[in-house]
Amino acid sequence: MRTVYLDNNATTRTAPEVVEAMLPFFSDSYGNPSSMHSFGGKVARHVREARERVAALLNADPAEILFTSCGTESDNAAIMGTLQSYPDKRHFIMSRVEHPAVLNVGHHLRARGYRVTELGVDGEGRLDLEEFRNALDDDTALVSIMAANNETGVLFPIETIARLTRERGIPFHSDAVQAVGKIPLDMKKIPVDMLSLSGHKLHAPKGIGALYIRKGTRFTPFLVGGHQEAGKRGGTENVPAIVALGKAAELALHHMGEENGRVRALRDRLERELLRRIPNSLRNGSEQERLPNTTSISFEYVEGESILLMMDAEGICASSGSACTSGSLEPSHVLRAMGVPFTAAHGSIRFSLSVYNTDEDVDHVIAKLPPIIQRIRDISPFWKDYKAGKPLSALLAGGAGDHGHSH
Ligand code: PLP
Repeated sequence: MRTVYLDNNATTRTAPEVVEAMLPFFSDSYGNPSSMHSFGGKVARHVREARERVAALLNADPAEILFTSCGTESDNAAIMGTLQSYPDKRHFIMSRVEHPAVLNVGHHLRARGYRVTELGVDGEGRLDLEEFRNALDDDTALVSIMAANNETGVLFPIETIARLTRERGIPFHSDAVQAVGKIPLDMKKIPVDMLSLSGHKLHAPKGIGALYIRKGTRFTPFLVGGHQEAGKRGGTENVPAIVALGKAAELALHHMGEENGRVRALRDRLERELLRRIPNSLRNGSEQERLPNTTSISFEYVEGESILLMMDAEGICASSGSACTSGSLEPSHVLRAMGVPFTAAHGSIRFSLSVYNTDEDVDHVIAKLPPIIQRIRDISPFWKDYKAGKPLSALLAGGAGDHGHSH
């Protein structure tokens, strides 16, 4: 059966060129880049080249790129490293829709006595800049706001945020794991202090990430050990993965135009046709300020998990905006923060495309999904009640009403 992979915000295919580039570092070129001999030195040259390539993608200086093991490590290193550098400041600001790699660090900090401000978003998933400005104070050690949301693709105004924090002399970190490689990010134009990225979201393998640290930013190492990474992160370098990330960054520079042209057009057609063909469907998040590859669509009165299972049977891979925990389907924190009604949040599906997707992939989903939704609705008590014009009270009493959403 053909696989239609539309879950690229979860992870991407490793590009064949990337696999090819990393292979020699598993076999002949296995030296340690820190070694004094030329066998290791040859490997160090490739690490250097990879650093240059990642820097080029961000228009940064290679010395500003720190290789890490993943996006989660980059986020943790940025936040914990900065807070350690400013031990007297006890206030941390983030948004309510951050990825758990930031959100749960914030919650952990709150449990350790930090004052943590979680900024809300509007119904379109956008931040209120006035609320943000008011949250900054003299005790603020760090602001961490994502560049693009992983569920909705909504973009945050990180250039403006960076200018506002800079005016106040407050460090600013941005989790750009979903943005890097999809939209241009120029560190000469965006005065952010730190920015996280992850290889497996841009066609490099899993287990490699990077953190951009602007020259002059105070940073205390998160992984304490050897002198690798200019003393900013201990641990022998993951050379094959670093080389892979360098190659993926180089490819991303070439693919950026296609991502914002062909991929965006594919995404737009998919979204337009699904919204047109399926009654009671709606897009989550701002239409304009969005990554080119992502759409989050809610199909009212159906459960996302049922949709995923039935799409899976047709070879379609996507994600839902809810997680099955303790028997009840909890809508994601992102959709809850946006105030998406529970009847819609439960049936939300994220489709995320990449340069490997084709017109045929989109045709397949457009053909298969409408009858799937209809079949689920035919057996859904939610849908029957809705069609009969009845209130949902009986079904909501089962716990879903907790979220305060009504329809
Ligand atoms: N931040 C965002 C916005 C993400 O989407 C992800 C991955 O889903 C991460 C951080 C974590 O990246 P990694 O899987 O490399 O740890």
